[in-house]
Parts: sequence; structure tokens; C-alpha cells
Amino acid sequence: MAKAKIAIYPGSFDPVTYGHIDIIKRAVGIFDKIIIAVGENSQKKYLFSLKERTMMLKEAVKGIGSVSIEHFSGLMIDFAEKKGAAAIIRGLRAVSDFEHEFQLALTNRRLNPKIETIFIMTRGKYCYLNSGIVKEIASLKGKVSDFVPKNVEKILKEKFNA
Ligand code: ADP
Repeated sequence: MAKAKIAIYPGSFDPVTYGHIDIIKRAVGIFDKIIIAVGENSQKKYLFSLKERTMMLKEAVKGIGSVSIEHFSGLMIDFAEKKGAAAIIRGLRAVSDFEHEFQLALTNRRLNPKIETIFIMTRGKYCYLNSGIVKEIASLKGKVSDFVPKNVEKILKEKFNA
């Protein structure tokens, strides 16, 4: 039997948005299994804890087949190797994503040439969307229902006492 093709989709998911979910759904059509890897990096400041980010994701990807959620705290490329991944999935939005993603992908290839980074282009309607803007809108008591699933909307409301 051929080996299952596994891909890692790493990110902060602080919180998960429809932009992330779209990338996950499209990656599922390409690979046998997607491992969503929730990052915990001491250098980064998150609004939500690792547990909260994972819980929100779990609910948001319910019903999408061949997806599991794990977390990592060290080098992402080492986590990918440990999981037997053939590829790392990243989403690309505007040109502004490119430089950072280019550097990340080339560095990861240098560290481990066996694992390929694959970019999935955002859908036009999500090209402006990131977790940061969602948090900003929610903190100002704005409506975020076009950007995040219901469960995330609810938790954002609780967080900002809206
Ligand atoms: P990170 O801290 O690793 O950038 P994010 O949760 O912000 O974590 O993003 C994880 C991945 O999802 C990145 O590859 C990012 O480009 C992608 N992504 C986030 N939002 C969108 C979107 N609206 N459309 C396409 N890709 C997206």
C-alpha cells in the first residue's frame, strides 16, 4: 500500500478565521491527511491561550475529513519531520506576505530539503483577512460574523465583554 501523503498546516490561529478554514478545505483535497499544527512560541504574544486556540479550531473544522489538530513549540520543520510530513502548507494573501514566507520556506528547505513548502493562494474574498484585523474589530465591538465561525465569534465577544 502506498504511504499516506501527510501535510502540516502550521500557524498561530489566534483565532482561526474563514481564511484559514478555506486553506484547510482546499489542502484536504490534495493530501491524504492534514495536521493542523498550532504554534506556541514564547516570542509571540497571543490573545488566546494554546488551549483556547485549539478548542476553537477543533469546533471550526468539525466535519472536514482527514484533519487532525496538534501543537508544537520547537522548530516547525522538526515537527513536520517527526510527523512524517511530505509538505508544509502555507497560505498566501497579498505581496506583503511574500517576503516573510519566501524567507521561511527557503530556510526550512535548507534545514530539511526533503520537506516541500506548498503555497495555496487565498480566495479573493479572504485576501484582506487575518486574525489581527478580526481581533481589532471585535475589541471595538464590531461585527465579525463574516470573518469567523459562530463559535469563534462567541468567544471573541466573551473576551472583549461585548
Ligand atoms: P502565523 O503566525 O504562522 O503567520 P497565522 O495563523 O497568522 O499564523 O497564519 C497561518 C497561515 O495561514 C499562514 O500561512 C497565513 O498566510 C495563512 N492565512 C491566514 N489568513 C489567511 C487568509 N485569509 N487567506 C489565506 N491564507 C491565510
